[in-house]
Amino acid sequence: MQLSFYPGPSQLYPRVEHYLTDAYQSGILSMNHRSEAFMDMLARTTTDLRRKLDTPPSYEVYFTSSATECWEIIAQSLVSERSYHVYNGAFGQKWFEYTRRLHPTSEALSFGLNEVPEPAFPERASPNDVLCLTHNETSNGTALPAGVLLSFRQTFPGIIAVDATSSMAGVQLPWEAADVWYASVQKCFGLPPGLGVLVVSPGAIAQAERVGERAHYNSLLFLRENFLKNQTPYTPNTLGIYLLGRVMQDAAPIETVDEQLRLRAQRLATYFEQASFELLVENPQVRSRTVLAIRANEKIIHHYKEAARQEKMLLGNGYGEWKNTTFRIANFPALTDEDMERLMQFFIRRAIPHFE
Ligand SMILES: *Cc1c(COP(=O)(O)O)cnc(C)c1O
Repeated sequence: MQLSFYPGPSQLYPRVEHYLTDAYQSGILSMNHRSEAFMDMLARTTTDLRRKLDTPPSYEVYFTSSATECWEIIAQSLVSERSYHVYNGAFGQKWFEYTRRLHPTSEALSFGLNEVPEPAFPERASPNDVLCLTHNETSNGTALPAGVLLSFRQTFPGIIAVDATSSMAGVQLPWEAADVWYASVQKCFGLPPGLGVLVVSPGAIAQAERVGERAHYNSLLFLRENFLKNQTPYTPNTLGIYLLGRVMQDAAPIETVDEQLRLRAQRLATYFEQASFELLVENPQVRSRTVLAIRANEKIIHHYKEAARQEKMLLGNGYGEWKNTTFRIANFPALTDEDMERLMQFFIRRAIPHFE
């Protein structure tokens, strides 16, 4: 079987194979989503996720179809007039562009690849506004350090929403530094695509009540009413929820996962630097621990991607403006230390001279 280092959809936990069989045999996949069996399964999944990811007791957890859906839910149900989008890459920008279609006065505050963003906002920023941050920018391999999130929290007067699509379940998140966090499961959860996780604070719920938006099947208030009863507004991805529950039940606590990925990211970065590769993100302070972007000329990129394919390994393509001049390596929990060893050995074995 192919070993994938693609940062989403990503390598699955090998145990997912057995969970799939269990799901089939348990009969849950044919159960109505208002049945006791479904509601119990949903409740267990949420409980295990909250316990393993250490979410604050007052924060609620809902499931959606994707992170992209969460962009729209936030724009519909939490932004009353305008949002501010602080970003340095393609996913942050897409979120801004989606939101701007619903709220044309929303504003972008972009920053540089190696820069630590400053918590500075226009004078008019008010408690009704929403600040949108991308915790881990999957397109370029940058991340916001916890200290930066906390400084935004201390400075911004309104609600803070964070896209943690490629870090949730891999990195210990400073939950209290934001009101809304979301992810989709095909990144750090090591699961097949088709499910989003949305974590919301009491402050976010209060904001949703002030906005009072109930015009959509996925309006936040409507989602909440359903999830408080362990139900969903529409027939959900029951298989996805079941698999998430099983993965979370067996997962190590997030402190342990965080520590493992931190050490491994360090080892990978040192390895690539010593092997005279160029890391796209030079500033270690803003370098992602879950997605590593490596920069080289197109020929070299092509060589390694092709050589990897021959050895049944998949390197992540570059994304957006970095499409042809980078490749990306997922440092996700479903990949083992042995998988990473194999990757590093591959680069040694298939090395070519790096002339420009
Ligand atoms: C993958 C990704 C998304 C989109 O996720 P979908 O599940 O396709 O909606 C959004 N934001 C970031 C940072 C991502 O990495």
